Amino acid sequence: MQQYCENLTQYKRLVTREVKIGNLLLGGNNPIRVQTMTTTDTMDTMATVEQSIRCIEAGAELIRITAPSKKEAENLQNIKDELQKRGYNVPIVADIHFTPNAAEIAAKIIEKVRVNPGNYVDKKKFEQIEYTDAEYDEEIERIRERFSPLVLICKEHGTAMRIGTNHGSLSDRIMSRYGDTAIGMVESAMEFLRIARSLNYHSIILSMKSSNPLVMVQAYRLLINHMMEEFGECYPLHLGVTEAGDGEDGRIKSAIGIGTLLEDGIGDTIRVSLTEDPELEIPVCRDIVKRYQNTGKSTVIKGFIPAIDQLPYSPFEYKRRATFEVGNIGNKQVPVVIADLSKIEKITPLHLQSVGYTYNEQTDKWAISDMAADYIFTGNQLLNFSLPGTVKVIVYPATWQLTEDKQTYYPIYEDSGYVDAEVTSNKLNFVMIDCFSDDTPVNDFTFLDELANDPTVVLCLSSTNKQAVLSVRRMMMELIIREIKNPVVFITDSNWNTADEHLIHFATETGALFLEGMGDGICLSMTTTAYNNAANTAVSGRNYIANASVEQFINNTSFSILQAVRTRISKTEYISCPSCGRTLFELQETTAKIRAVTSHLKGLKIAIMGCIVNGPGEMADADFGYVGSGVGKITLYKGKEIVKRNIDSAIAVDELINLLKENDVWVNS
Ligand code: SF4
Repeated sequence: MQQYCENLTQYKRLVTREVKIGNLLLGGNNPIRVQTMTTTDTMDTMATVEQSIRCIEAGAELIRITAPSKKEAENLQNIKDELQKRGYNVPIVADIHFTPNAAEIAAKIIEKVRVNPGNYVDKKKFEQIEYTDAEYDEEIERIRERFSPLVLICKEHGTAMRIGTNHGSLSDRIMSRYGDTAIGMVESAMEFLRIARSLNYHSIILSMKSSNPLVMVQAYRLLINHMMEEFGECYPLHLGVTEAGDGEDGRIKSAIGIGTLLEDGIGDTIRVSLTEDPELEIPVCRDIVKRYQNTGKSTVIKGFIPAIDQLPYSPFEYKRRATFEVGNIGNKQVPVVIADLSKIEKITPLHLQSVGYTYNEQTDKWAISDMAADYIFTGNQLLNFSLPGTVKVIVYPATWQLTEDKQTYYPIYEDSGYVDAEVTSNKLNFVMIDCFSDDTPVNDFTFLDELANDPTVVLCLSSTNKQAVLSVRRMMMELIIREIKNPVVFITDSNWNTADEHLIHFATETGALFLEGMGDGICLSMTTTAYNNAANTAVSGRNYIANASVEQFINNTSFSILQAVRTRISKTEYISCPSCGRTLFELQETTAKIRAVTSHLKGLKIAIMGCIVNGPGEMADADFGYVGSGVGKITLYKGKEIVKRNIDSAIAVDELINLLKENDVWVNS
C-alpha cells in the first residue's frame, strides 16, 4: 500500500470491505457500481417510481431518493412496494439531511440510508466557535447519542449506510477546528465512522464530495490514508463531484474528479451529478467506468511503467511544479492551449474562428475571444495569410526550416530528433517524449538529461500506453526527481466515438495530471479515425456542442478542463445542484436562463440551488447564489450572505442581474 493507493505505476484497485445493499454487493471484488438520484417529489409515489424505472432501465444499480421529513421517509414503503410490484428490486437509498427521525424510519424500510455528518446532528449557522478539547469531546458524545440509534436500527435490519461528507456542508464545529479543508472533510466522516465501528457495524460506504475536483480528490486520498492508519482497512468509497452543473462542463468536472481517483484504483461506486434528468447521468457514469472494466482487483493492464518507491510530491496538497519560462509557457504563466489544425487540408482564416479568432474582412482586424488558442499546430502547413499577433504556429522541423518567419513559427521535434538536429530555434523548441508506450522496460532516463534545462525547450509528453495517466505521471516524477525544470505540455489523443467518450477521455487523462500541479499546456487531438467519425456525426450529435466543428469542440474542451482544474479561468462558472425532491423551481430551465444572460461574465462563480435547506451550504465558494426559498420564491446571496430574500421567481433573474450591477461585476455583452 502506497500513501493512498495500491500502486502508483500499475493499475490496481484498492481492496475495500465488501458491503451488501439488498441483493447488491459493493466493494470487495465487485464491479464499480453506478447510481443516481431521483428529482421528483418523494410524496408523488407514481412520478418517483416512473423516474426510478427510467434510471434502472438506463443501468442504475442503486436509486437514491430524498427523505426530508418523516412523511417522505414513510412513503418510501409505497415507492418500494410499487417498484417491486413492477418487478424492480434495485436497492433504494434514502437521502437524509438534518432529520435523524426520518433516517430512523427509512432505515427500517429500504436498503441503505445516506447521512451527511455535516448536518445529521449539528445545525449550521456559519458560526466560528472556539472549542476547548473537553468541549469538543462533549460534542462528539452528543453526536454518539444521536447517531447510535440509527446505527443500531441499520444493524438490526441489515441496512447499509453511506456517511457522505460534502465540502459545502461541513458543520460549524468542524469548520471551527479544521477550516474549510480536505482534512476537515475526512475528520467529519471519521467521527461518525468511529462511532459505527464501536457498535460493531460495518455496512458502511463513505464519500467526500465537493464541487471542486481538486478538493474532492485530496479528501478521498486523505480519507484512505487515515482509514488505513487507524483501522488497517478501508471501507468502500462512493465517488462524485457535487453541483457539477450540466452539459460539457458537468461532464468534464465529474470525469476529472472521479476519473483521477479511478485511475488510482480508488472507488467502488460512482454518481455523476448533472443538472439534467437523472437517467441522463447513467450513460456518463458508464462511459467513465468502462475504462476500468474487466480489471478485477488484482488485474494489471499491460504496459510497462517503472516502479517508484517514493512520490516526489505530496498527493494531498496542491503545489504547481516549479518550471522556468520559455516564451509564454511555464513558471507563473497560465497553461497554454495548443489547437491541432493539422487534419485540415487547407487552413483558411475561417478555420481560426473555431479556435477563438474571428477575422473581419472589412476592418482587416481579428476579434480574439477569451477562449482563443495560444498556439496552433499545422503539421506541414505554412499559412498564406497573416495571423493575429497573439497566436503562434507549431510545425514539423523540415517545414519550419522553409519559413523565414521565425517569430511566428516554431518547430516540434521527436526527442532524439532535437538532440541530433543541425538547426533549432534559438527561442522555442517543442520536443515530444513518448512515455512508456510499449512493454519494453525502460530504466534508463539519461535521455532526459540531454534536454534538461535547455532554456528553449518545452517538453510535450504523451503516451499510448493503456495506462497513459500513470505513464505520463511517472515521467513527470522523473523530471521532478532529476530537477528538470522545463515546462511541460500534455498531448492527448482520443480514439473514442461519441462526444461524451471524448470529453471523458480528455478530462480524465489530462485533468488528473493538472490536479497534481503538473502541466504548463494542453494539446488535445483525435486519431484520424475518430476525427473523421466526429467530423461527420458523433460530435455534432449532442446539444451542448451543437454545430461545433471538431476543432471547436476540442478547443472548448481544452479551456473547460483548465477551468475545471482552476488553472486558467476563461468563462463564467456555474455551480448548479442536480435537483431532487426538495427542489422548489424548474432547475434546468432556470439554469439555462441564467446561463444565457451571464455567460459573458468571465471568472464569476454563480450558484443555482434548488432549496434553501441545503443550497446555501452546498454553494461552496460561489460569488453569488440563486436559491429556491419557497414555492415561486427565490433568495439571492452574495457569497454566504443573503441580500434579497423571497423575491418572486418571475423577476428573480432580473434581480440577479441588478445585484451583479450593484456589485460592479456586470459588463454588457
Ligand atoms: S440543493 Fe438541490 S439537490 Fe441539494 S437538497 Fe436542495 S434541491 Fe436537492
